Amino acid sequence: MTDMTDRARPGVARNDGATAPASPPAQWDREADVVVIGAGATGMTAAIVAREAGLRVLLVEQENDIGGHAITSGGNVPLGGGTRAQTQHGIADSPDLLFRDLTDWSVVEPNGFPDYRYNDREIVRAFADCNVETFDWLVAHGVKFVDQAPDARGGNAVGNSAPREMHCAVSHWPMVQTGRPADPAEQATRSSGNGLMRPLEAAARQVGVEILLRHRMVAIHREAPHAGRVLGIAVEHDGARLAIRARRAVVIGTGGSTGNVNFRRIADPRLTEEYCGLAGMPWSDQDASGELAAMAIGASLWGTYNQVGEFGYSVTKPAAIGCQYGYQNLRWYPGSAVFDRARSIGLPVRDWQDVITVNMLGQRFYDETGPAFTTNNYRSIDPYTQGDYRNARDVKFRPNNWLNAAMAGIGDGHNGGGPIWAIFDADAVRREAWVPEPPHVDYAAGFCFRAGTVAELAETIAMRFQRVKMPPGNLVRTVERYNGFVDSGVDEDFGKPAPRFRIATPPFYAAWATPVIHDTRMGLRIDAHCQVVDLSGAIIPGLYCGGESAGGFSQHGLARAICQGYLAARHITAPA
Ligand SMILES: Cc1cc2nc3c(=O)[nH]c(=O)nc-3n(C[C@H](O)[C@H](O)[C@H](O)COP(=O)(O)OP(=O)(O)OC[C@H]3O[C@@H](n4cnc5c(N)ncnc54)[C@H](O)[C@@H]3O)c2cc1C
Repeated sequence: MTDMTDRARPGVARNDGATAPASPPAQWDREADVVVIGAGATGMTAAIVAREAGLRVLLVEQENDIGGHAITSGGNVPLGGGTRAQTQHGIADSPDLLFRDLTDWSVVEPNGFPDYRYNDREIVRAFADCNVETFDWLVAHGVKFVDQAPDARGGNAVGNSAPREMHCAVSHWPMVQTGRPADPAEQATRSSGNGLMRPLEAAARQVGVEILLRHRMVAIHREAPHAGRVLGIAVEHDGARLAIRARRAVVIGTGGSTGNVNFRRIADPRLTEEYCGLAGMPWSDQDASGELAAMAIGASLWGTYNQVGEFGYSVTKPAAIGCQYGYQNLRWYPGSAVFDRARSIGLPVRDWQDVITVNMLGQRFYDETGPAFTTNNYRSIDPYTQGDYRNARDVKFRPNNWLNAAMAGIGDGHNGGGPIWAIFDADAVRREAWVPEPPHVDYAAGFCFRAGTVAELAETIAMRFQRVKMPPGNLVRTVERYNGFVDSGVDEDFGKPAPRFRIATPPFYAAWATPVIHDTRMGLRIDAHCQVVDLSGAIIPGLYCGGESAGGFSQHGLARAICQGYLAARHITAPA
């Protein structure tokens, strides 16, 4: 993922970035009133709002297509505060209730981590106050929500007091995951980011937003390196560098930083290179380019705790194995425009009793059926009283999870836990009805291995992140010991509930089952209008940011990105 060879490829994480300020150019190649970076949830929204207010807008996107993570998403949009959808279904909510939910210090997860305690009040207040109009704005711009009451499905750090989750109907556009439209019978009822981003793209093109694909922002120009207005950006396109002037504002909607190994390790040193299975990749990357370019001209980071808080989907247990991209809610199929980079669909794990998971040394480390991080949502705490310390008392403390055990490593001083392999046999393949052949698994790139004996399997495992060889004797002993637990019905090592299946029938498999990284919840410091703030607390004139590249707000996903794109453009277009 961070190989030098990957650097030139779109959609692949890069460790380079605009870390030094670029001098303003002597002349500009293009110009607009507003230059928006990133055609995802934040950027597309900001671009439409600014254009509809009469400004000339250029939207630059580094990938071959628009959409960002938003188009790969489940399309579950938590907009509350008293939307029309909530009112129609008799759900009581208000901006104040939403604000207090999302700043409720007393809410903690079963592992003790607080979801909302470190949210920036100014940022969350602005969000809560604009949910209702943002919902109406989406509907007015062609987004069709599934016709049902708001619920809690897909919600993640969206507050306990009211159901707020709306679902974008996938509609008729080809899905990025398959290259085909969804089954007509599902088009009005299935939720998908397709149903969010394609209507917004159509609206943007209709009102005259100019979208420049395969244009990668590499620097932001300011009058002086750390002073004055932001003037525009530098982009790379087909090997050439262009300077684009922004007469009024630049909006950063670059989607976060978890694809950049050095950057993500600011928050969590464990997240080394082997965590290459990022959700939303390879459709688009979260390469920290927006953060780095803004920091190069003085911007501050903000709310960094939210990135390491062990809640939500910031790191997830893989749900598909034997492939690089095993995120629980996203599979890539051969018809997808990015399947050449995804390379395999993965084997979905229905029952973790069918495999054992081992580290690089071939040793088990945790109960395979163990959970990942949890998340807060409507009725996660029940009974719940906003702001009451007894909320924490009513949460059943469950501190442990499979993820932290997987990332603990092998004790060799390396920060990352290394590859995790799911080990299984031919009987498991039958039980799960897997087809362990390409395109379901990725033998070619080293994300799946097969052998006639357990010892040979360990010998066979070789790939770029397996930094020590797996001792065959270790894996043989691990499997023998586990088979003994199956016979006795008791997992003496990790307490897996009644281990059910021996691993004894060849061929044997080792399938990539390493934790997956997902959300970015730390980013640039912004104010209520999404203006970027510098290290001294001063606004950087003309620079805005929203979504996963913005910090100070621990909430998964689309709602904060759309609202912040909306807020940024509203401020840019407001009369002086
Ligand atoms: C599989 C998956 C499922 C999800 N499901 C949900 C869900 O159901 N509900 C929910 O609320 N959230 C969900 N999310 C999260 C949600 O999609 C994101 O939080 C949201 O899209 C973030 O919006 P954004 O504008 O910050 O970034 P994005 O939507 O990712 O857009 C960023 C864009 O910027 C572009 N870009 C980056 N750097 C540059 C550069 N230097 N130059 C030019 N362009 C650049 C990227 O290519 C990308 O197109 C999901 C995410 C994934 C991956």
